[in-house]
Parts: sequence; structure tokens; C-alpha cells
Amino acid sequence: MRRIDRRTALKAGGVLAVTALASCVDNESATAVPTSSVPAGPTSPAAAGPTVPAAAAPDWNGLRSGLDGTLHLRGESGYPAAHQLFNPRFDSIQPAAVVRAATTDDVRESILFARQNGLVCVPKGGGHSYVGASTVAGGLVVDVGPMSSVGYSDDVVTVGAGAKLYDVHAQLDKDGRSLPTGTCPTVGVAGLALGGGMGVHTRTYGLTSDRILSMEVVTADGVVRTAGPTQDADLYWALRGGGGGNLGIVTSFRLATIPASKLGLFTLTWPEASVAAALRGWQRFAHEAPMTAWANFHIDAQSNGTLSIHAVGVSTTGSASAAAEQLESFVGSKATSRSITVKTHMQAVTYLGGGTTSARTGFLAGSDVLRGPMDAATITRLLAAVKAAARAKVPASAILDPLGGQAAKQPQGGAAWPWRSALAVIQWYSGLPAHPSAAALRAAQNFVTSGHRAVAAASAGGYVNYIEAGRSVSSYYGSSLARLRAVKAEYDPTDFFKASHAAFG
Ligand SMILES: Cc1cc2nc3c(=O)[nH]c(=O)nc-3n(C[C@H](O)[C@H](O)[C@H](O)COP(=O)(O)OP(=O)(O)OC[C@H]3O[C@@H](n4cnc5c(N)ncnc54)[C@H](O)[C@@H]3O)c2cc1C
Repeated sequence: MRRIDRRTALKAGGVLAVTALASCVDNESATAVPTSSVPAGPTSPAAAGPTVPAAAAPDWNGLRSGLDGTLHLRGESGYPAAHQLFNPRFDSIQPAAVVRAATTDDVRESILFARQNGLVCVPKGGGHSYVGASTVAGGLVVDVGPMSSVGYSDDVVTVGAGAKLYDVHAQLDKDGRSLPTGTCPTVGVAGLALGGGMGVHTRTYGLTSDRILSMEVVTADGVVRTAGPTQDADLYWALRGGGGGNLGIVTSFRLATIPASKLGLFTLTWPEASVAAALRGWQRFAHEAPMTAWANFHIDAQSNGTLSIHAVGVSTTGSASAAAEQLESFVGSKATSRSITVKTHMQAVTYLGGGTTSARTGFLAGSDVLRGPMDAATITRLLAAVKAAARAKVPASAILDPLGGQAAKQPQGGAAWPWRSALAVIQWYSGLPAHPSAAALRAAQNFVTSGHRAVAAASAGGYVNYIEAGRSVSSYYGSSLARLRAVKAEYDPTDFFKASHAAFG
């Protein structure tokens, strides 16, 4: 009953993560909300008041008693599991508390509680942020993980923001449907979709964010909105590619599904001596292959100082033979090792994701978005960067994922995703132990930095879902940044959602 009373009062106012990583193998008395914090009406987002500094210790018991979900305070038994992210490198970041939100009301109450108590509030979905952006020292993490329902009807799926990719696929498969997503089974649909979402279907069906019809989102003023093409349209625009953590907490997505069709798959390997030719051929493939064909390209530093290279391809026609042959012809030589298979939708989901779940993994990574094909000199520099890592025994990979196809056919500027005309995204990935030494971290960072330098001439910026510390916000959003800033000013004028990286506030 107490909870209902309080709410009434409040209402008065993704054999591989081939597309991303080298492997996926990751008080009793409820405090009244001051009038200044009472949500403004949905039509006036800018009316949100300033964050009210805490006058006293936060009334955690009051918050707890009002939740359908659970609250985990530092020092409590459930806290260590609740505050962990996928990358153990961020275990040392200790929020004051984690709310595991079970309902939209939980999210709303958490936001209002954080405002009232002057706490920094960050949303958490699947917890796979490359920079630990879904946790915050001393702040309040709002984990939407328990909100993971998947409901399908008439080609549209409604997905709770806490759903993980494998679960979405497994549920949709029962209705013969799917979504274009990344491959890692434990990546959260929220973070993935808000930042774009690339994967094997990108060329045939576009990005995950391109399939979003509408979103339920709680903004900094505590108002629950349905952002879509005709309502809160600026927010809808911004949340399709602008990344998570800046504008509100999304609680559910409605997305247009795709058929759960069988996939043709191939893996092709070439010797190190052919790496430049293979990369040139892959670039041509990324540019010219039909929309139904997709292949990414891996250059992996081996601990013996050599490079190994392979391409992993998918054809949504159901047979990968033609696509594999096209890639080989562009490379100019047959692959030295070649496997071509056909898999059902769920077999492919499990194969590409390396299983149905993924273990927590340490890594440091970054990205460059390629405007177009790299010239010979840029390719030479890229290969030299990976080779230097191999010689230094740094676990390092350059993984190139193609864009184009349907992702390029969406109108430029129609959503915040800024890279419609780009050829591909290169990920610079370095595996790390769970708790790496300063030297190991430095070596990994050096590799990522050397990758950026190598392709600087061909790079348009970075992919926000492969976000990095210390990189300029403009590099992630290009021509979308000015409008993103305007949307931030409209919906979060007091910068309540203080994104730790790539903040456009
Ligand atoms: C192993 C692995 C594999 C990957 N594979 C792919 C891939 O195949 N394709 C691809 O495109 N990307 C891939 N990625 C990158 C992935 O898309 C991003 O890391 C993404 O941000 C993860 O989303 P999350 O919900 O799991 O992460 P989180 O860390 O929970 O969230 C990421 C960001 O979004 C914010 N956020 C989370 N939930 C919400 C919400 N409900 N509302 C508003 N903001 C929110 C967080 O505050 C944070 O800033 C991969 C990452 C990893 C670690």
C-alpha cells in the first residue's frame, strides 16, 4: 500500500563475436518529492528542475520499499553480482547502489530518487560498455535487466530494454522471426540498439536501430514517454544511433522483425604473405557484393610474431558458395582453408555467438569508421600496426565489419546514426586479463592508438558502441552532433544524465 501511495504522490506531478570482438567465445517513511522535482508534463521537457542537492543521507529504505524490483547497496550480499559489468576491468568502480528495475515505475522512481539526492544516475542494460559507462563510482545504477520480456505480434516485437540478444533471438524464432543484431549472446538489446547495432544482417536489413518503431523512455524529469515518428520525434531521432546514457532510460523497444531464415556461412583463410591482397579484395567485396552477402575480415596478431587472417561470411540467400567465390575472386587467390555450411536461424545464432551465453572477458578496444576503401599506403600502415603488436606479444586484432547495403539506403540524417555512406568499421581489439597490470593496459592502449594513427587518412570517426576513453565526442556523431545537443537541451537541460564518455550535454 505504501508503494501505491507514494506513486500516486509522484504521479501528481552480441565460433565468434565475429562482428565485434575476437571472441564472445561477454525507510519506512518514503520521502516526499519536492515540488521542484515533480515531473513536468510531457509536452514541456525543458521544465525539469535542477537536481536538488542532498540535505541528508539518502532514504534508501524508502526507495527499496517502493520498488517492484530490488535494491543492492554497497556492502550487501547481492551487491557484488549486481554491480558487475561484462568486462572485469571495471569491477573496482563501486556505485553507491544498484536498482534492478522490474517495471517502468521502478525506473521512474529511481530517477526521481537520484535527482532528489544529488546522485549521478546511469542506466545499465547488458553491461557490455567498452568503457564501463553503465556504472558510476558513488552513484545510482539503474539496471533494466529484469525488464526482459519479448512479445511478438504481426511482424512487430516488443522487447523489454533488459533483454539480451540470445534471448531475443530464441523467443522470436518460435514465431519464425528474427532481428538484425550483433552476435554476442549476452549483449543488451538496449545499448546495442541505441548506438546502432551491426551484425551479419546489416547489409540485408540495416542496423538494429533502423528497425525501431518506437521506444518507451523515462526522461530526466521522470516523465514516461513513447518516442516515435510522430511523438517526441526528436528523442526518437536521437536514440537511434546516439548511444545510451545521455538522454533517458529506455524501458522497452518496438521493432520491425525480419524472417528467421537459414543462413549460408563461410570461413576463408589466407596465408600471411597474402594479407595485403586479401584485405584489398575484402574492401572490394564490402563495396560491391550484393546486399544479401556480408563478410568481415580478421587480422590477428599471433604470439610467435606472425599474423593470421580469415574472413567470416554470411549469405541471407541460404547458400554462401557464390559469396565465398566472389570474395576469393576479388582477393585473386583461392583461400588455403575453406569451410562452407548452411545453418538454421538458431544454429547460426549459436554458432556466430560462440554459444548461448558468454563469459565475462577483459579487453580494451576502439574503432575507426572507414569512409571508403583504404589506399595501399594506409593498408601497409594498418598491417604494420598489427604486426608490431604481434612482435611485442600483445594480443591484438583488427576486425573489419562491412556497412553498406540496407544500412546505406536509410536516409542520411533520418536518425542520429551518422555513418550511412561509410564502407566499414575497423575494431582495434586487445584481449586482457580480468585485472590487467598497468603495463598490459598500456600495451593494449598503444595498439589501439597505433591503429587510429595508421588509418587516420581514411577514418571518418568512431562507432559509439565501441566507445573509447579520451576520444572527442564529435568523432562519434559527425554531422549529428549539433542536433543531438539540441535534443539534450530540450529533454535534459540540467544534464542529469551525465554520460561519462561521448557526452553531448
Ligand atoms: C562481447 C561483445 C560483443 C559485442 N558485439 C557487438 C556486435 O556484434 N555488434 C555491435 O554493434 N556491437 C557489439 N558490441 C558492442 C555493444 O553494442 C556495446 O558495447 C553496447 O553498448 C552494449 O550494450 P549493453 O546494453 O550490453 O551495455 P551497457 O553497458 O549496459 O550499456 C551501454 C551504454 O548504454 C547505456 N544504457 C544501457 N541501458 C540503457 C537504457 N535502457 N536506456 C538508456 N541507456 C542505456 C549505458 O548507460 C551505457 O552508456 C559488443 C560488445 C561486447 C562486449
